[in-house]
Amino acid sequence: MYGLGIDIGSTASKAVIVNERRETVGSSVCALGAGTSGVDQALSALFEQTSLAWDDIAYSVATGYGRQRFNRADKQVSEISCHAKGVSLLLPGVRTIIDIGGQDAKALRLRADGALDEFIMNEKCAAGTGRFLDVMARVVESDVSLLSELDGQADLPVEISSTCTVFAESEVISRLAEGEPIPNIVAGIHRSVARRAASLVRRLGPVEGPVAMSGGVARNQGAVRALENELGVAIEIPDSCQLSGALGAALFAIEALGKGRIRSVAAGPVAGREAGGLYDVRY
Ligand code: ADP
Repeated sequence: MYGLGIDIGSTASKAVIVNERRETVGSSVCALGAGTSGVDQALSALFEQTSLAWDDIAYSVATGYGRQRFNRADKQVSEISCHAKGVSLLLPGVRTIIDIGGQDAKALRLRADGALDEFIMNEKCAAGTGRFLDVMARVVESDVSLLSELDGQADLPVEISSTCTVFAESEVISRLAEGEPIPNIVAGIHRSVARRAASLVRRLGPVEGPVAMSGGVARNQGAVRALENELGVAIEIPDSCQLSGALGAALFAIEALGKGRIRSVAAGPVAGREAGGLYDVRY
């Protein structure tokens, strides 16, 4: 009996299959997000890898930015619930989760029993998200997967004072023209993302540990180190951090089979905050 989780993000499509023992039997990531062929590519790769097909899937859950427009799943669940679920399986007891994806950043606070307590998100601005890093990687003629290594070679991070991605890009171009070493620029870029993420996390109140990071940006050790420095806490990274949302969706799928319905990590609606305003989100 297999459960399928599909996370259709703004930047990447991820898919995970779990069995009834909640073990991952296969996973895939395609670097194409909502509105593209990314989800089909991710699913084809997953089915090929596992030698399974749609007919073998007993229940499927879609999550992520593009979940509403994906009509092949049995159920849609918010990515906040799915990240909480996926990370909690891999890192039991985690109390704070910072999820930085391609287009937004979220901070989640969990109760001791793993239930979602509160969350806050920034989806209004590219600063402090993977998009910021993707743009800056192009400016320094690198790839996001290489930014961490460059950061490791920095001796004096440059100050990137603009928070706006467009102005920060101009600033980076100026520093490059002045001959500033690229590793120092990259370290400054990571610090800028970390400052934004840290201020988001602090809006939830005092940071409660253990703290974990999920989402694609958690693959960037340079960004993770910068965030650890900003927050003054150690950050744990679950295995396959970019797949946490898809894993959580797959876990909801397998639980739905056992209970005949989707069980949420949160008991009912949870108050969340977006860009400072309060709103209710049903899970
Ligand atoms: P979404 O769910 O919004 O599509 P993801 O959680 O998949 O976003 O994260 C996408 C981001 O992850 C990209 O914008 C990029 O900055 C970062 N990323 C992806 N792959 C890597 C990698 N190999 N190394 C470092 N960062 C990465």
